Amino acid sequence: MRAAVYHGREDVRVEEIEEPTVGDGDVLVDVAACGICGSDLHEYAAGPITVPDAEPHPVTGERAPLPMGHEFGGRVAAVGSDVTDVAVGDTVAVNPVLYCGDCRYCTGGNYHLCESLGFVGLSGNGGGFAEQVAVPREKVVAFPDSVPAEHAALVEPFSVGLHAVRNADFEAGDDVAVFGAGPIGLTVVQAAVAAGARTVYAVEPQETRRDLAGEVGADVTLDPSAMDALDALLNATDGGVDATFEVAGIEATVRDAIAAAKHDGSVTVVSLFEEDVALDPNEIVLGERSVGGSAAYEAGPRGGVEFDAVPDMFADGTLDPEPLVSDRIALDDVVAAGFEALLDPERDAVKVLVEP
Ligand SMILES: [Zn+2]
Ligand SMILES: [Zn+2]
Repeated sequence: MRAAVYHGREDVRVEEIEEPTVGDGDVLVDVAACGICGSDLHEYAAGPITVPDAEPHPVTGERAPLPMGHEFGGRVAAVGSDVTDVAVGDTVAVNPVLYCGDCRYCTGGNYHLCESLGFVGLSGNGGGFAEQVAVPREKVVAFPDSVPAEHAALVEPFSVGLHAVRNADFEAGDDVAVFGAGPIGLTVVQAAVAAGARTVYAVEPQETRRDLAGEVGADVTLDPSAMDALDALLNATDGGVDATFEVAGIEATVRDAIAAAKHDGSVTVVSLFEEDVALDPNEIVLGERSVGGSAAYEAGPRGGVEFDAVPDMFADGTLDPEPLVSDRIALDDVVAAGFEALLDPERDAVKVLVEP
């Protein structure tokens, strides 16, 4: 079977790997599509970061070279003998979170905060840039037939956006600002609209992404490279919005996300950062702003609320994944038309789906 395998920095190879074995409790998925994620790009350009390299991952016992791809779904090709509620031919999305089951967070039910957190497609247990992946039954959720099967790959990034909005402190009718309109920022915009935000502001320098933010529901889009977007936001909102989201991963957007929240407002950081940033803690103290993080989405033996909800929200049109999809490519093209294209600032790629 062919798969894209991570060997090291700038070294991803499409090569033959062993067919997955289907255990009694497993579901074998014929991958319809697998999205390329920002974290895949970090691993490709600057890694290994989370891919286990020197030491094996504590949950999987595996280390690089490892198959990549954690945003995927497809049709069920086989099920193990213990699996009774998923059938061959069903379409499913895969929740890729791996956890130990024993640490204080797992035993408390917060599997996505596990001390040994990992992901299928980054930490072992196969990956979605492949023809097939076998995963435990608990990791698959039913995906409606009324939605194209390749959109199952978008359940993962939309679960990140939905989790961020569920973690934030705002109510229907409140104003929201989203800093960064990459794939995750666009899912945050949609989830904020779904949660009843009154006015959603999106701040994004890249024109294509800014336009997409408007297309998926942002009421006002601001270009921080052409204007003082923070100033414009503060002026438009009597000194700040109720909730902000930082989805760009750089110092300027963290600072602006804090400053753009009203006093007693909520700031949710969704990005991962490559470098430390300088902040003014007085903005948090004197404004009594709450700054929190949002990591991935719920997971565990009973699944997760976001992964359960997103397929239904695709089906009823509350969330729309299609505007995010900029390219559909073949597995053999994953490096040139996938990783390299997404890293090229001249290209406008947002979400690239690999269709093995
Ligand atoms: Zn991802
Ligand atoms: Zn754990």
